Amino acid sequence: MIEEKQGIAFVSLPGLKQAGAVHGFIGRQGGVSEGEFRSLNLGIRTQDRPEAVAENDRRFRRAFGIPSLVRVRQVHGREVLVVDRKVKDEKAWWQVERDAVITDQPGVALAVLTADCVPIVLFDPERRAWGIAHAGWRGTCLRTAAAAVEAMTERFGSEPRDILAGIGPGVGPCCYPVDGPVIRAVEESFGEEADELMRPAPGGRRFLDLVEANCRVLRKAGIAPEHLEKADLCTSCRADLFFSHRRDQGRTGRQISFVMILPA
Ligand SMILES: [Zn+2]
Repeated sequence: MIEEKQGIAFVSLPGLKQAGAVHGFIGRQGGVSEGEFRSLNLGIRTQDRPEAVAENDRRFRRAFGIPSLVRVRQVHGREVLVVDRKVKDEKAWWQVERDAVITDQPGVALAVLTADCVPIVLFDPERRAWGIAHAGWRGTCLRTAAAAVEAMTERFGSEPRDILAGIGPGVGPCCYPVDGPVIRAVEESFGEEADELMRPAPGGRRFLDLVEANCRVLRKAGIAPEHLEKADLCTSCRADLFFSHRRDQGRTGRQISFVMILPA
């Protein structure tokens, strides 16, 4: 469902919302950046003006009442960061190379930045723990979302069957033809299922369905089918709402997705 807060459009998922997860897959509207970064670019590593990104960051936090925000340096790997205490210095996390983060600290919003990769939110209402991951083709084949589920189980005693999972907007199979190396990586990771995740595209390429692939990763990690939600929005098709690395040939901004529980 597409909602709006203080001029910022975002996608929320009803199951997560009902369970008490404060979350959003934030779109590109409502910021101050210009040109290819128009307008709510949160990418601190893009070529955008730092003052514009800082103002966008303020607007995002104000709209959603975010006390503290953990962002890491995303490297398309499988390592999970555990945040098990209050966050004092947010910027200290910026250099930490991880692709999934989990916590049980109220008021700590976990975030990922994307521009085609799928953002994946996890929320355990029983243990009051949450997590976030992002997955492009590498993270999908590495099953990074499953690593986050496992980490929640180990660190917070979550049962996978209690965890709600939400997959946000990412590049859809409509707009994501892949070639040799990616096709082989998907085949290696998904075996016989690979053909169902990649329908034929012209020129020997295949259209990869990242969302469906991550649904399977999550179900295999023990997430119940009824606890799995998806936004079903393609970042490349929806230029009005989202940045897309593919569509914009790399000259684009980054949108943010987040999840947390507010302090009591
Ligand atoms: Zn599309």
